[in-house]
Amino acid sequence: MRVEKIGDHIHIIDLEPAGIKNFAASYVLKGDKTAIVETGPASTAKNLTLGLEKLDVEPEEVAYVAVSHIHLDHAGAAGTLLKHLPQAKLIVHPRGASHMADPEMLWTKSKEALGELAELYGKPMPVPKERIIAAADGITFDIGNKIRLKAIESLGHASHHLAYHESPGLGIFPGDAAGIYLNKLDAIVPTTPAPYRLDIAAASLKKLISLEPKALYYSHFGKASSPKEKLQAYSKQLRIWEDCARQGIENGENIQAIGTRIIESDKTLQRVEAQLKRHAILGQTVLNQSVEGVVEYVRSQMKL
Ligand SMILES: [Zn+2]
Repeated sequence: MRVEKIGDHIHIIDLEPAGIKNFAASYVLKGDKTAIVETGPASTAKNLTLGLEKLDVEPEEVAYVAVSHIHLDHAGAAGTLLKHLPQAKLIVHPRGASHMADPEMLWTKSKEALGELAELYGKPMPVPKERIIAAADGITFDIGNKIRLKAIESLGHASHHLAYHESPGLGIFPGDAAGIYLNKLDAIVPTTPAPYRLDIAAASLKKLISLEPKALYYSHFGKASSPKEKLQAYSKQLRIWEDCARQGIENGENIQAIGTRIIESDKTLQRVEAQLKRHAILGQTVLNQSVEGVVEYVRSQMKL
């Protein structure tokens, strides 16, 4: 676990699931009260509370824990964390709320979809219903000292996804709506597992671009500059994947061949392919699940 100040009032905690650095971030915003964006997985709840201690955050002063969506690597620690933070409310998209209150089905589905990776992330604990705020698009949360977080509905990666627009810095916490940022390599790669909706994701990216963010705070991973360029590049990258998937399906190719086709067409992916293959999590999620998600999406569009 490592903490770092990355803005006037923003800190990052590297949660390091299974010791993997630069993969899962939690952000801490300090106003008169404190807000946390993303909890990371259940397995690193302890690292998160240690990070809060290191930042001198008293458990009582945390007003909000905001998650982008309910996937285990973003919201898995929420139940455990809220036990430790007596005043905090959980902010989640309305379609995710019931799963946070009763995570059994989420856990079963996650194990089916992720296999061993689900165990690495750990089983989420339930969040008491009365502590959940089902946040519609545009709702703003004020933590004092002029610091606010606005929920921005940004679907596509999931049917229940929020980004958060922060004031006064005007940065965006995009969750998984803007891809995965490999900060050490300055590269973005898609996170598009099934059931992915590329058309809706593209509209969400446009919406984020229209907010003219001054920075991006990626859940995977870290603060990034040139936000508009990054969001536009990700949009283009998704189109390349979509085109490759369509051509591959038309040629009757299997998923491996389509994956190869994508790597040959996507220069960014090509550049970081070796590092992804060596990565304990991203090797599986980007090169397999993301490819499958886009192929499944394109197949469903072709059937229409
Ligand atoms: Zn994620």
